[in-house]
Amino acid sequence: MDNCIFCKIINGDIPSYTIYEDEIVKVFLDINPESIGHMLIIPKKHFVCLDDIDIDTLTHICDVSKKMHSLLKEKLNIDGMSVVQNNGDVQEVKHYHMHIKPYYVNGPSFSVEEVYKKLVD
Ligand code: 5GP
Ligand code: ZN
Repeated sequence: MDNCIFCKIINGDIPSYTIYEDEIVKVFLDINPESIGHMLIIPKKHFVCLDDIDIDTLTHICDVSKKMHSLLKEKLNIDGMSVVQNNGDVQEVKHYHMHIKPYYVNGPSFSVEEVYKKLVD
């Protein structure tokens, strides 16, 4: 999709702090994080929302969310994690994405670069 920000991130036209990537998905840090390590899992193929995406891709995204949960526990010592996926009027970017939002009892304060290094090192 020509005018889709997330397709541009997949193509490399817009840079992102990529945490994980395979042939089906890309995971990168949210540009406006609600907490340290807030990331987005997106399919490489352009689907708009939950009505649009196929079940195999969705299952793979859920599998990757489990991997990210393990990674965040190991590397950032999170105390909890919320998964959010917006559709319709509450969805800002119209390319399917799953938010992974870490929770901390006593929030750490890292810069985006520090978080990126901790997650990929
Ligand atoms: P939603 O569509 O579920 O409301 O949220 C879209 C999310 O994408 C927001 O949390 C926003 O900060 C994030 N976002 C929008 N544009 C970019 C971008 O260019 N790069 C990154 N890394 N995140 C973005
Ligand atoms: Zn797209």
